This record gives sequence, structure tokens and C-alpha cells, in this order.
Amino acid sequence: MRRTTKPSEVAQSYAVRLMQHLVVPTFVLNPQREVVVWNRACERLTGVAAAEVIGTKKHWRAFYKEKRFCLADLVANERADLLGSLYPEFTVSTHGLGFSAENWCVMPKLGNQLYLAIDAGPIHDEDGRLIAVVETLRDMTDQKRAEQALKALASSDGLTGLANRRSFDQALAIEWARAQRTRSPLSLLLVDVDHFKLYNDLHGHQKGDDCLRGVGAAMAAGLRPADVAARYGGEEFAVLMPDSAHGVALDVAERLREAICRLRLAHGAAAAGSHVTLSIGVATEVPAEDMSSDLLVARADQALYAAKHSGRDRVLSADKALSVFGRAQGVAPCGARKTRLR
Ligand code: GH3
Ligand code: MG
Ligand code: MG
Repeated sequence: MRRTTKPSEVAQSYAVRLMQHLVVPTFVLNPQREVVVWNRACERLTGVAAAEVIGTKKHWRAFYKEKRFCLADLVANERADLLGSLYPEFTVSTHGLGFSAENWCVMPKLGNQLYLAIDAGPIHDEDGRLIAVVETLRDMTDQKRAEQALKALASSDGLTGLANRRSFDQALAIEWARAQRTRSPLSLLLVDVDHFKLYNDLHGHQKGDDCLRGVGAAMAAGLRPADVAARYGGEEFAVLMPDSAHGVALDVAERLREAICRLRLAHGAAAAGSHVTLSIGVATEVPAEDMSSDLLVARADQALYAAKHSGRDRVLSADKALSVFGRAQGVAPCGARKTRLR
């Protein structure tokens, strides 16, 4: 006797065929978390054929090198608690419609890096029992890259490529708060090119720009990844050094001063030396709860001011700035001074 097809079965096979042809990469898990649908768009996105995953729990292999849950697994297992550790961005639908997340994936089969926006939602029968979880994926790589490029553009200085003043201020606020929490020292270097107005006057603004680029590159080269080097404004630069004691910051400043001397950028103005030099003020604070980061900046600025007024081409500690300030000292030839004023 011929078996008649139930309307619900017709609807189910229709839904499966519809999904196969969707332009949106989609896969479906059953309640045991086995793949029951893996559509063509999903094959194209991942390079993994439906035949490789249908009937298995190996869908994770299409997205990750190491075994881990995909978003659909978390929906099936009701593990919203794992979202935070598995995805940098996520939301949980308040209407029980599932989870949404975003993630960078290095696609194991194709080897390309994609930023995927993922939605996974449960499907229940009339009695509220879970019968499937549908996961859809959107390739947002181009949008994400554009967003990152814009962010980088907005936070970096056009001339030197270092952080700009705005992102330096943000970094200072973040690191100051962290230092307050952890009771660790935060150091700041304020760096100023000596007699730069005369340099421009003598060599022209374009050469002046080249000089600033050179200083910026030397700064970026000599720092740890945790340090933030920024163009603070004009011919002034700043280096923020989280978790760095004063002595370490003074050493970094001295190395930076020497690195610029070694560049031997000819200056030649009568009031300046033969080569471009830097003056650097260094301050360090272990900030108490009620202290403002303005204090750190003010102290480094004070040290820089004292370095200028005591002869330029030197590193000065904020701890010593007051005692040094006012004592006029001759400008030592660039690179000749081996000791610093501290
Ligand atoms: P001091 O040793 O006391 O710091 O003297 P200074 O001449 O370096 O300081 P001053 O503040 O008098 O002059 C800074 C100069 O830096 C003036 C300004 O034209 C120049 N400047 C600021 N921004 C730029 C820039 O982006 N490119 C160039 N080429 N010059 C700049
Ligand atoms: Mg200057
Ligand atoms: Mg200046």
C-alpha cells in the first residue's frame, strides 16, 4: 500500500529545499547537535561540502582549527553563559529567538580570514520541544576592515603615524584608571624637539616635516608594545609607559635622546647645535584614588620646561626638576653626554 505523505512532511521537505537555495550561508542542527542541513552558500563560504558534515557533529571544523562550540551548539545546549568567552561581540534575544554574535575566523579549509556575523535560533514543535537550531552567517569582512581602517585613521597622526592627541588622551585615562586599580607606577615622557622653529626657518617646512617623521619613527622603534607613543602637538611628542618604574622610564628617555642624536639630522642654526636634539621631561606616579592624571602631565611638563631652561638636549626627571630649574648649564655637544640629570 502506498504511504501518503503527511502535510507536515511536505512542508518540512519544502523548507529544507528552500534553505538549500538560500543565498545566505545556513546550516541546521538537530537536537542531538548533528548537522541536518548545510546549504550551498555555506559550502561556498567555508569550502566544506555538505557530504563532509551532514550527519556528523563536525560543523566546527568548517570555522575553527581547534574543537569548540559554534553558536548553534550554544543555542541547542542553552549555554548563554559561554558566549562571553567564545565571542568578542554577542547579544541574546530577549524573546527566546536565540543568540547573535560576531567573530574573526581563519577558515580552516580555504585559509582566508573572515569576520562573520552569526545568528542562531531554535525551532520548537507545537509542544515547545526543540526540533532544530538554524544558524545563518553573514560575511562582514569588508565592512569590518573598513571600520577598522577608519578607526585607525581617526586615532593616528597623519604625519608620523603615531597615536594622535585624542587617542593619547584616551589611553592616558584608561592607563591612569588601571594604575589606580593595580597600584602600579605609570610613567610619562614629554618630548620636545629643540629649536625647531629655527630648523624650519633654515631648512623649510617640508624638511621640518621629514624631521618630525624621523623622530616619530625612532620613537616607535624603541618602545615596548604596551607603551603608547603619540604626537602630542606640533613638535612635541609623548610616551605613556604603563607599569614602568621611574628609573626604567628615564633609561627609555635617554635611549630615545641618543637615538635622535645618532640620526645626525643636520640643524646648523647658530643658537642650536650642529644636529637636531631632543629635550625630555619624565614623571612617574603610583596614582592614589583621588588623584587626577593632570598631575602626571603637569609634572612631566615641568621637567621638560626645566630641561629646556637648563640647556636642552637632555632628559630630566620631574623629581629633580625643581632643584635643577634656574641653574643655567651649557649645551653639551649632541651625543657627548653619557649621564643624565636625574
Ligand atoms: P624650543 O627648543 O624651546 O622647543 O624651541 P622651538 O623653536 O622648538 O619651539 P617653538 O615652540 O618656538 O617652535 C615650535 C615650532 O614647531 C614652530 C612651528 O612652526 C613648528 N611646527 C609645529 N608643528 C609643525 C609641523 O607639523 N611641521 C613643521 N615643519 N613644523 C611644525
Ligand atoms: Mg621645541
Ligand atoms: Mg614645543
